[in-house]
Amino acid sequence: MPLDLVTIPCLADNYAYLLHDATSGRTAVVDVPEAGPILAALEAHQWRLTDILITHHHSDHIQGVEALRDRTHARVWGGSADAHRLPPLDEALVEGSRFWLGSEEVHVIDVPGHTIGHIAYLMPGLAFTADSLMSGGCGRLFEGSARQMHASLAKLAVLPPETLICSGHEYTTANLRFALTLEPGNPALISRVAEVAAARAQGRPTVPVSLKTELATNPFLRAHLPALKTAVGLPDADDVTVFTEIRARKDRF
Ligand code: ZN
Ligand code: FE
Repeated sequence: MPLDLVTIPCLADNYAYLLHDATSGRTAVVDVPEAGPILAALEAHQWRLTDILITHHHSDHIQGVEALRDRTHARVWGGSADAHRLPPLDEALVEGSRFWLGSEEVHVIDVPGHTIGHIAYLMPGLAFTADSLMSGGCGRLFEGSARQMHASLAKLAVLPPETLICSGHEYTTANLRFALTLEPGNPALISRVAEVAAARAQGRPTVPVSLKTELATNPFLRAHLPALKTAVGLPDADDVTVFTEIRARKDRF
């Protein structure tokens, strides 16, 4: 992979990601739950932060931005639609925005559902999805509808299967416990559960994870499949109806 990727645990269960381009020296962070662990990681790698990429306005993703900008003078990027509720932006992004991070081009897409203004950052082999697509699940619907989240995840589902999904939280264990209630016999899910348990026992993050694994295990990417429709008692329903029912069940789980 041309860019170095570092996963940084923050707060209780958040992740920030550092991206570093060795050729240009450009170094970006995706989301800033708190500045401390990110500054420590920059120091450990001897990297200088140049860019701060924000996915959405929730405080657990932005509350360290001001402190980090003060320390590093990095440029702050975020969604134009949410500019009024994000830290001051140097660059306002919309669906389809593209920019270069050293040798890699970043492509911005809208992924509403968790919040209305949530964006994802895509680059070859990587997708920074924060609280839209998560490993084994998806973000709660605080602002958008199940239909919007379903459409957002559909945009991510068509990326190359080897794409690494970099999501915003360590929620995988609980997500998979729910997934098992729907597909107790899914062999890919059973092996993912074992892999995640082993990773957590060693204190390792369960993300990034390949899209291929998510397509095989994440019920929110599987609402179109007869097995999932049957599992929620809606064998003849359309995909959005099934997705909505899966989301509702997860909320009650
Ligand atoms: Zn959030
Ligand atoms: Fe969050």
